[in-house]
Amino acid sequence: MKLRDTKQLLNDLNLAPNKNLGQNFLINEEIAESITSLVKNQDYVIEIGPGLGALTKKLAQNNKKVLAIEIDRGFAEYLKKEAEKVNNITILHSDFLKYPLNKIKENINIVSNLPYNITTPIIEKVLLESNKLDKFVFMTQKDFIDRLLSKPGSKEYGPISVLISSLGNLEIFKVINKENFYPQPKISSCVSVFVCKKTVSQNDRKAFYEFVKLLFKERRKTILNNLSAITKDKKEAERKLSIVKILPSRRPETLNIDEIQLLFDIMLNKTRKK
Ligand code: SAM
Repeated sequence: MKLRDTKQLLNDLNLAPNKNLGQNFLINEEIAESITSLVKNQDYVIEIGPGLGALTKKLAQNNKKVLAIEIDRGFAEYLKKEAEKVNNITILHSDFLKYPLNKIKENINIVSNLPYNITTPIIEKVLLESNKLDKFVFMTQKDFIDRLLSKPGSKEYGPISVLISSLGNLEIFKVINKENFYPQPKISSCVSVFVCKKTVSQNDRKAFYEFVKLLFKERRKTILNNLSAITKDKKEAERKLSIVKILPSRRPETLNIDEIQLLFDIMLNKTRKK
């Protein structure tokens, strides 16, 4: 939908964009087309926050079944009526953060122009709550994606970047200028594609992420200090670090993903599977 049509529709529905729900609607058909072309011929696609449906119908044309979860009652009601015209879209008026993703038995592909105010909890949920995830295509503000893709040693590198790279491969697909949204956000956005490696169980993912968050809790302290807080025993922390040959004086953000994984395995008394 173009800008004029979007404004007209909002007017007809007597609705206005709600900043608190991160409502910035995509107003460029070609971009909507290129995003949805990234997920095709799938059995089950979930869309988070369909809004006025910029991506929803296109997703339904290319896939078997679409479940779109929208927190805003006004948009959900409008979309429910629209969905009656086709037979493969289900609209759920709900908070995605409360949706039981682990109940879905099919492989899942998720697509979303994410509400920017809850980007981190949504990404955490998608990555941690289901081991059925195949692909996650999402639009976020540009600076956020830089954080997700950050490398060891950089200021942005932290638990969520570690989690992402431990579970799969993330790539930027396209940068989208802010003029393509209504209302216009302050900065440009980015469409990214995350493809999941399916090797890690759901429980292991959660335990790993909790461990990484503790490891990064005091970024200015050494890895020995942070690990001692976890083991509650400095000698034990020193012993574990010497087994994996990590210098105790290093800072957590200098550890690469393999080193963190190794440390986690040692904490669980596991030998590393390759
Ligand atoms: N998909 C539409 C588009 O591309 O034009 C709208 C995207 S807009 C950036 C984000 C959407 O997410 C809004 O429709 C908003 O109401 C919805 N939303 C915000 N928080 C949500 C939540 N917790 N659960 C489900 N939807 C949510």
